[in-house]
Amino acid sequence: MIIQEKIESLRAKLHLCNFEYYVNDNSLISDFEFDQLMKELQEIENKHPEFYDSNSPSQRVGGQITKNFKTVEHKERMYSLGNTYSEEEIQDWINRIEKNLEDRTPSFTCELKYDGASISLTYEKGVLIRAVTRGDGTKGDDVTQNVKTIPNVPLKLRGNYPDFFEVRGEIVMPLAGFSELNKKRVAAGEEPYMNPRNTASGSLKLQDSSETAQRPLTCLIYALVGKNLGFKEHYQSLVEMRSWGFTVPETLTQASSKQQILEYINSWEKKRGNLSYEIDGIVIKVNDLKDQELLGFTSKSPRWAISYKYQAEQVATKLETVTYQVGRTGAITPVANLNPILLSGTTVKRASLHNADQIKKLDLRIGDRVYVEKGGEIIPKIVNVDPQNRASIENRISYIKNCPNCGTELVRIEGEAQHYCPNVDGCSTQIIGKIQHYIARNAMDIDGLGSETVSLFFYEGLIKNIADLYTLKEEQLLPLERMAQKSVDNLLLGIKNSKKQPFAKVLFGLGVRFVGATVAKRLANHFGTITNLMKASQEELIMVDDIGHRIAQSLVKFFENPKNIELVERLIAYGVTMEDEIKALSSKILVGKNIVVSGVFETLSRNDLKALIEENGGKVSSSISSKTSFIVAGVGMGPSKKVKAEKLGIQIMSEITFLALLDL
Ligand code: AMP
Ligand code: ZN
Repeated sequence: MIIQEKIESLRAKLHLCNFEYYVNDNSLISDFEFDQLMKELQEIENKHPEFYDSNSPSQRVGGQITKNFKTVEHKERMYSLGNTYSEEEIQDWINRIEKNLEDRTPSFTCELKYDGASISLTYEKGVLIRAVTRGDGTKGDDVTQNVKTIPNVPLKLRGNYPDFFEVRGEIVMPLAGFSELNKKRVAAGEEPYMNPRNTASGSLKLQDSSETAQRPLTCLIYALVGKNLGFKEHYQSLVEMRSWGFTVPETLTQASSKQQILEYINSWEKKRGNLSYEIDGIVIKVNDLKDQELLGFTSKSPRWAISYKYQAEQVATKLETVTYQVGRTGAITPVANLNPILLSGTTVKRASLHNADQIKKLDLRIGDRVYVEKGGEIIPKIVNVDPQNRASIENRISYIKNCPNCGTELVRIEGEAQHYCPNVDGCSTQIIGKIQHYIARNAMDIDGLGSETVSLFFYEGLIKNIADLYTLKEEQLLPLERMAQKSVDNLLLGIKNSKKQPFAKVLFGLGVRFVGATVAKRLANHFGTITNLMKASQEELIMVDDIGHRIAQSLVKFFENPKNIELVERLIAYGVTMEDEIKALSSKILVGKNIVVSGVFETLSRNDLKALIEENGGKVSSSISSKTSFIVAGVGMGPSKKVKAEKLGIQIMSEITFLALLDL
């Protein structure tokens, strides 16, 4: 009994501290004390699983794994919102409402349109029982375990709440947390995330909830859903929900006229840059719940609410110069150097120009005043030129004809927007870039060897390609500047150890155009060895999931080049890993079989089914061809697939027959 009381008092205390912190902005105890209490609770809970509570504050830490998110039907549909972009459209909307309400002007609520992932939270008897994504509006994914890790989502409510209800809100990733997260990723050699919105929704779909717990997410509530919950007005319900423990932003306000709505729109258009998270507009709602009911819904959205979308934030600045970068594949990227200017809280000095076509389309001239926009992406882009502030025609940018590095005449492949330096074997930037790519953290991750050292070795004539790394000798390195015995030992050991890196990393390190880390993994997994991969035809490559035409073509071209073949042969000779670890197979029943999976299954998810095929030696293909051995079909197999299978005379197997085949 003592134990149970202890657990309950710890839980109550942690719930209370959370409530005070997120609702009243009040720290009852220090972060350190909070962590101590949490640890104590976790320890007791671990020893006494009989007192498990799915809404214990310890659930915030995560740790549950969800392999497949369950699809859940929404009790009430999650609609989208109609959009407006101008004062006139707002007026039209108000006119329609007044007409429907027999010439009455209702009162409105104005809220920010938080830019994240929508979520529906269901509470029963004051505890969170379910969190579901919007999905297609009628059904979404059950992401309860992940949502429980978000600190300001109350797990247990306080005050005077209804017995059963649903709330809706937006899960956003605040900008500071987003850039912190990206810094960590870049430091770890990973690609930074593109924007906070996609990162927020991606974070909800992670399989390991302790990973979600690491993501800086926050939940902003915008609606209470359900009948007879004791409220007459939307605004009033939102304000009241704060006292139950929900975060309802203070930016919420009431308006009784179009004038007041416009004031709200205009003032937030100016102030939005000061918010700690992104918004993409504002939402105006009819306040009275009876009026809402009278107005009802169209097939897509409520008639009683509308959003006003802001344009992406733009600033004007002077285009100073254009420089051209040469990538490791020879691709040329023009970069605009700008007079530094503040945009969405960061100083912008450069903008990407993508390619020659874009420069031509904008008719850019050095000295032009240009509009720069940051559409959620990391690198801003030039969207327009200020026609009132044009530089003279002599300053028009003429795209370079020769490589800024080696002077070779650039080429442009038919149908591609990018220019290339074709001097693959002689252009130093490309050569160095390729070696730098190979040693990078997310590729071979060679300890003790950095990008600058690679340049140094190249200019000293020690390396000309990635295979040369494995020929480096102590006596060549010691005479070089800043190469003490210890760093040389380190570096040579790092190079030696890299031979043990898995095949997928090597493959990525080779730097084949369009073959990123994920594609490399797929290829390594599918083909198993470099020899198999080198033999694969374009058609065979395309059969692999996620491999499209562009990638397949690039691979074939790469392995046609005798220089690349020689490079690979040298790497093999030095002992670099060129085979995927042979996976322990459950059986060899499906070895040599190409299997297509289609439809929805009863006992297994598609992914489990695919895993089962691979565990038994089979290969999963995404499309039906003459090479397909058979198809495992669930409910709702596409009709075109069926026709194709019948035409080719390929057996279609039910889930039950398939499982029986594997003795399951
Ligand atoms: P849309 O996706 O453009 O149709 O807009 C509808 C979505 O806006 C909803 O699913 C919500 O996720 C999101 N949203 C953000 N802020 C609000 C808000 N204050 N009120 C209603 N919806 C909002
Ligand atoms: Zn060049």
